[in-house]
Amino acid sequence: GNGTKWEEKYKKIYNIDTDRYSIESSLGKYGFSTEDITDVICTHLHFDHVGGNTKIENGKIVPTFPNAKYWVSKENWDLANHPSQKDAGSFMEHDWKVLAENGMVEIVDGHESFIEGIDTYLTYGHTKGLMHPVISDGVQTLFYGADIFPLSAHIPVPWVMSYDVQPVVTMQEKEELLIKIREEGWFLFFEHDPNIQACTVDRLDKHYRMNETVIISE
Ligand SMILES: [Zn+2]
Repeated sequence: GNGTKWEEKYKKIYNIDTDRYSIESSLGKYGFSTEDITDVICTHLHFDHVGGNTKIENGKIVPTFPNAKYWVSKENWDLANHPSQKDAGSFMEHDWKVLAENGMVEIVDGHESFIEGIDTYLTYGHTKGLMHPVISDGVQTLFYGADIFPLSAHIPVPWVMSYDVQPVVTMQEKEELLIKIREEGWFLFFEHDPNIQACTVDRLDKHYRMNETVIISE
């Protein structure tokens, strides 16, 4: 998520509530601490996804997960470190600099699996080399929609975000994925949806829509 390294001004702009929510309390609910985390898959390096990679402790920026490897695709790493004017505002070096300095960043091409049981799928419409984890236990499979399916409202192919660097590419990628997700009966996970965490997908005439929903936010 956004993490906690925010000045009051930006907390207001982005409506960031660090009093009610924290990574420590969210993990604690399931009996884990930040020290237990061994691997962090960074889908892409936009600040609202990797702000929580690091935190401020005694005035210094430190890794939030001291024992983790942080996995990043090479294409997104290169872009984040040399962004265009369109996406420069979405990348903030303080979310990864200290990780790189401590040798905690693992750069991958994203085509090959690097964690057992998790495959990755790359897209380019939202940002270059966005890595979607595809997580399977052998029975059910979950596709992590990240920022090409941020909300359940983004299931219809033309509903894309103005943040996308190549919206037409996002539409093509969504269409290919929706065919696959529906055929395989995968769950599609929504990183930004406050109400619906995941769903299976159905099609009515030419239009894709939610089928079975998963709600864990209550
Ligand atoms: Zn993004």
